[in-house]
Amino acid sequence: MITSQFQYHKASSVEDAIQKLTEIEDAKLLAGGHSLLPMMKLRFAEPPYLIDINDIPELQGIELDGDTIRIGAMTTENEIIASDILQQHCPLLVEAAKLVADPQVRNRGTIGGDIAHGDPGNDHPAVMLALDANLVIQGPDGKRNQPANGFFLGTYWNEIAEDEILVAIEVKALKDNQGFGYHKLKRKTGDYAVAGSPVVLSLDGDKCADIRIGLTNVAPMAIRATEAENILKGQVIDEALIEQAAAQVVSACEPAADLRGDEEYKSHMAAEMVRRAIQDALQRARN
Ligand SMILES: Cc1cc2nc3c(=O)[nH]c(=O)nc-3n(C[C@H](O)[C@H](O)[C@H](O)COP(=O)(O)OP(=O)(O)OC[C@H]3O[C@@H](n4cnc5c(N)ncnc54)[C@H](O)[C@@H]3O)c2cc1C
Repeated sequence: MITSQFQYHKASSVEDAIQKLTEIEDAKLLAGGHSLLPMMKLRFAEPPYLIDINDIPELQGIELDGDTIRIGAMTTENEIIASDILQQHCPLLVEAAKLVADPQVRNRGTIGGDIAHGDPGNDHPAVMLALDANLVIQGPDGKRNQPANGFFLGTYWNEIAEDEILVAIEVKALKDNQGFGYHKLKRKTGDYAVAGSPVVLSLDGDKCADIRIGLTNVAPMAIRATEAENILKGQVIDEALIEQAAAQVVSACEPAADLRGDEEYKSHMAAEMVRRAIQDALQRARN
């Protein structure tokens, strides 16, 4: 299929892109194009106007300022994988990016597009929840900070207004007492998740001081398994507690049955991804 007709504009700045978004009804931002263009080819999306944000300097780059890492929204998956800053201070993002799609998609697909698109199968949204990320969003009235927690509202639905742009993602560098895990079950290389789970936990001595469990592709949007987190918080995590948390994860899931599996299979696989991610996170936090 080919797309319906559209006009193309290459934005020179965030302000330029916002002005176009404000002036032109149903205009769409074009980042890596790896979700938008397939939707346009299938005529699920027929934007009359595309605003290419690839050459805007403010949307590029990965920087460390104190313990805050700022990742420009146009950073590609491959740039995340190659980043020394992320490998050293937030390897969870590197691990997740390596599991996104295939090398071609990772070469163009951006973290900002992955988060903004709102596909429950995308990997970064749940990772943002586990990392307690801050999303920097800009619109006609300037910049605002939006916690990832509360940002994802439903399938293709989030807290970005039609005249706003996701400019950057801010995450805290992981500390020595923190560990992370990311497990994603997929049918084959390059596929979206049947179910996935990023976990970040902090230890205080032997006890779990804090834990954040994200879930990918088992609900209309990325979600946190908060009740499972509550079972583990403040406790010395052992196998029995992990089993209780995993059982809670099964009830938190509301997956849609499709070619990747039925609801029961997906929910149980989500629990298995959580088990493995917690084990990895614990081991890394202890070392
Ligand atoms: C074969 C295939 C397999 C894939 N597998 C996976 C996978 O396993 N995991 C995964 O996570 N993803 C997967 N993807 C999706 C891929 O990661 C996309 O690149 C990503 O979903 C969107 O990023 P993009 O930069 O390509 O955005 P685009 O496709 O350009 O844009 C997507 C949407 O987000 C909006 N948007 C883009 N940037 C911004 C911004 N800065 N601010 C506000 N709105 C914005 C656009 O207007 C559009 O509506 C796959 C894609 C393909 C084609």
